[in-house]
Amino acid sequence: MTSRATLQQFSEGTFDLLVVGGGITGSGVAREASLRGLRVALVEARDFASGTSSRSTKLIHGGLRYLKNMDFRLVREAVQERMRMLEMAPHLVKVVPFLFPVYQGDPDSLLMLRAGLTLYDWFAGKGNPIPHRIHGPGALLGREPLIGAHRLGGGAEYCDAATNDARLTLEVVQSAISLGATVANYMAVESILRDTNQQIYGARLVDKLTGETGEVRAKRVIAAGGPWADSIRQMEQPGAPELLRLTKGVHLTLPAKKLPIKSAVVMRGPDGRMMFAVPAGEFTYVGTTDTDYTGDPQKVGVDASDVAYIIEATNRTFPQAHVTGDDVNSAWAGLRPLVRPQAGKSPSSTSRDYTLNRGPSGLYSVAGGKLTAFRHMAAHIVDEVFPKTKGDHLQASMAPLPGAVLPMLTPDQLGALAAQTRTPIAHVTRLAEQYGGNFKRVLAELPDGGDPARSTEHQWLSAQLRHAVKHEMAVRLEDVLARRTETFLFTAGNGREYVESLAQEMGEMLGWSTERVAAESKSCLAQIDAMFAWRQEQEPSRSVS
Ligand code: FAD
Repeated sequence: MTSRATLQQFSEGTFDLLVVGGGITGSGVAREASLRGLRVALVEARDFASGTSSRSTKLIHGGLRYLKNMDFRLVREAVQERMRMLEMAPHLVKVVPFLFPVYQGDPDSLLMLRAGLTLYDWFAGKGNPIPHRIHGPGALLGREPLIGAHRLGGGAEYCDAATNDARLTLEVVQSAISLGATVANYMAVESILRDTNQQIYGARLVDKLTGETGEVRAKRVIAAGGPWADSIRQMEQPGAPELLRLTKGVHLTLPAKKLPIKSAVVMRGPDGRMMFAVPAGEFTYVGTTDTDYTGDPQKVGVDASDVAYIIEATNRTFPQAHVTGDDVNSAWAGLRPLVRPQAGKSPSSTSRDYTLNRGPSGLYSVAGGKLTAFRHMAAHIVDEVFPKTKGDHLQASMAPLPGAVLPMLTPDQLGALAAQTRTPIAHVTRLAEQYGGNFKRVLAELPDGGDPARSTEHQWLSAQLRHAVKHEMAVRLEDVLARRTETFLFTAGNGREYVESLAQEMGEMLGWSTERVAAESKSCLAQIDAMFAWRQEQEPSRSVS
């Protein structure tokens, strides 16, 4: 994966399939179709995973709470996919122990929890990494002493998994490319092409980096536009009824020192909704909210009310933590592209299942879905759109993702690297897990013997940036800081102090003008500021109090 496909490459011949949207859904479909021998084009209007697929809770999970909605099939599929993902991407998908405290008066009793988790374990089968256990209050507090003790009736310990959603999506894209797909980011579909019978035969593309336009022809077109699915459908059928109900979910990161937990912990919102606190190296992230959203998907952001809700839930679960808005290190908001339900349902009870809709001109649109079940969903979609390719492709589609092909560095090698680069071992390990066997390529970008003029953090970032430009199709600075690396969300200071120097370095690699370098810096700094815009929103009420 070295460079984006060009308009010229998209214009050559007729593809079997054009996939619109490079989130986890579109990338998964492109990968699945490619491994069945189809000729596939994938275009993403912005960067891979820049939509919902980099803004999730980052869990590869069955979704325990969907058992309450009696979505047994959905949960079984998701738990089974979780087990598969642990095999396909062991570097990126990590087992995490979860604690589920139960208080007197909670909506779910310990008995219900036990029943749900028995089912959950059964779905996972023999390989289940940590079968659930029910604990009394003492044992629960022994595991996580910060959990509130008042009215604690006990709780459960079980397992799920966590990942880096943006890099998982990237690896699925890389896998599709290695199977022959023609792929570009910053390549948007601006309209669809129809023949004299009004049937779709391709799309008109615009290269968002150069402004040039071109065409791509394909026998089938699938829109995997996530929150934009309805706007893509409007290209086929202006005024078509909306398929989606968008709900917004916000997360906050806190320094782990502020909320030091070893297990992920199920929290309750002030309204009794389930939420999570998840340990992530030097940070703990907490969320999520679930509220209806009707604006422009591109403009979704974090409001003061979202922050207040999450902080209240955090302090209810961990009363000794005394978290305030000042502790927030970063924040992100994403949109769930849920299938529009019958009127009157609450956002949280809306199904997380997906639908595939075929429009009058033959445009297929995906709505709904989950990160966890992307592989399974992709297989179903390709079965439906290309029934002749149906067969047993499970083994092929379970092939390791690119980072799992080569072995990872051993703990001893990581220890030596940490000492040599004067980097904490936990940090080196977390970095290595992002890349798996490809970490060696990042190491190749570190300056020999180090660079005394730059901090260790800066040197690592620079190596990651160079790797991302050479091997991961990063073409804008935000691709590197927001998605190829965890800089915006999971570093103290969000990378602000390195933005200008990294823009310069990326500009030298890609031949940017001085204006472009300045514009890239400015845009990244604005995105960092936007994570904290809610602090301004809070100002008036703060000064009143
Ligand atoms: P997206 O990732 O949004 O991708 C759609 C892409 O289409 C975008 O990148 C967009 O730029 C592109 N696009 C739009 N228009 C065009 C066009 N005209 N031309 C070309 N490209 C276009 N799932 C889990 O399994 N585990 C979780 O823990 C979890 N937590 C979640 C928490 C939150 C707050 C949210 C919002 C979701 C969560 N999910 C979770 C669900 C999961 O994240 C989503 O289902 C999934 O990421 C959706 O992926 P997608 O590819 O369908 O959409």
